[in-house]
Amino acid sequence: MMRVAVVGLGAWGAMTAWRLAAAGADVVGFEAGTIGHDRGSSHGSTRLYRRLCVEHAGLVPLAARSAVLWRELERVSGETLLTVTGGVSIGPADSALVRESLAVAAATGVDHALLDADAVRRRLPMLRIPDDAVGILDPEAGVLAAEPSVLAAAAAARALGAVLHEGARVDVAEAADGIVRVDGRAERFDHIVVCAGAWTGELVPDLHVTPVRTLVTWFAPRPGEEAAHALDALGVVVVAVGDAWIWGHGALEGGLVKLGPADDPAYAPIRPDALVGSTHPLDGALVSRLAAAALPGIAPTPTSMRPCMYGRTADHQFVVGRVGERLSVGGGCNGHGFKHAAAIGEHLAEVALGLEPTVPMPFADPARHASAIA
Ligand SMILES: Cc1cc2nc3c(=O)[nH]c(=O)nc-3n(C[C@H](O)[C@H](O)[C@H](O)COP(=O)(O)OP(=O)(O)OC[C@H]3O[C@@H](n4cnc5c(N)ncnc54)[C@H](O)[C@@H]3O)c2cc1C
Repeated sequence: MMRVAVVGLGAWGAMTAWRLAAAGADVVGFEAGTIGHDRGSSHGSTRLYRRLCVEHAGLVPLAARSAVLWRELERVSGETLLTVTGGVSIGPADSALVRESLAVAAATGVDHALLDADAVRRRLPMLRIPDDAVGILDPEAGVLAAEPSVLAAAAAARALGAVLHEGARVDVAEAADGIVRVDGRAERFDHIVVCAGAWTGELVPDLHVTPVRTLVTWFAPRPGEEAAHALDALGVVVVAVGDAWIWGHGALEGGLVKLGPADDPAYAPIRPDALVGSTHPLDGALVSRLAAAALPGIAPTPTSMRPCMYGRTADHQFVVGRVGERLSVGGGCNGHGFKHAAAIGEHLAEVALGLEPTVPMPFADPARHASAIA
């Protein structure tokens, strides 16, 4: 039986541990904090699931496979983790959001529908829709439960025999000989999978994964606007406002709408351990401006703001695959990797075990950072 270490048990690492254990590997996981903590990339109650992945056509089959595995995790855990609402990406016909979404749809044949401005207004009357806007409906879009998914994957891995250590910070993961060092103690594995999120660069520096700070922001509907902004009314939206995009979903039980900018250039790279309790003078500024432009029924100042972070790569694509004889990496999620966590976990498990990947990911091959390959 192959002995595999998983370093980092956020969404990607917990799913990797689960899929490795499901494939019969002897799995040992190492998590520096507690599983389900709020100091990395995977906290904040919810994440958007989109099938029509504007970021790369190769992500569409990955998202589809993830949904299958998420349903499997729901079956195993007895919890509801993925709620399908449908989603609409909205912008001027010549906007990058619309052009690139339609290009991905054409390349993949993913189920979608093109809506004109009036059709978008009928479906989403709470949004401010300019006359030149169109919408692209993604019927499979929805909302994922964030921390519960991480905890469910870890519990499923443990139920299959995985040993997952918490409060265990790995100092070194050696590609050549499969050694993992924690607090000066060394353990040898047939393979190591590093899923360290924004900390990826600390363990595998040559992959150029930059830790970027961002926020989880929740907004209250104005009085009388609550029903119009509930999850079943708003669903999942991505709206182009000028050159920026705002994404979000309707209110859950707490009554707040989750909104965020696709990318906030205000922030410089952060040292991952400095995230907790950090603030920035521009916190909330961009998302509030975009919210005011796109959703007039929302109070434009966030009710809740919590720091969060992700690993960014120069080409905004993931870094997922083998980097050495005994070392693989899943990192560089670029702020859109939660929906793919289950299929990435499966992919990394298959790579570690020397199996043919169910969903190939050539665009995420770490070999594009040639200096990283041992
Ligand atoms: C604000 C925000 C909103 C987002 N929204 C979406 C969305 O709507 N949809 C979507 O698909 N994606 C979204 N994402 C991205 C998504 O959340 C991430 O892609 C996903 O959570 C993957 O996280 P991870 O497992 O790579 O990292 P993490 O969750 O950070 O996990 C890495 C883990 O490694 C551990 N670790 C680090 N170093 C070590 C070490 N040396 N030894 C042991 N353990 C270590 C850390 O403690 C951490 O638990 C969003 C991200 C953010 C920040």
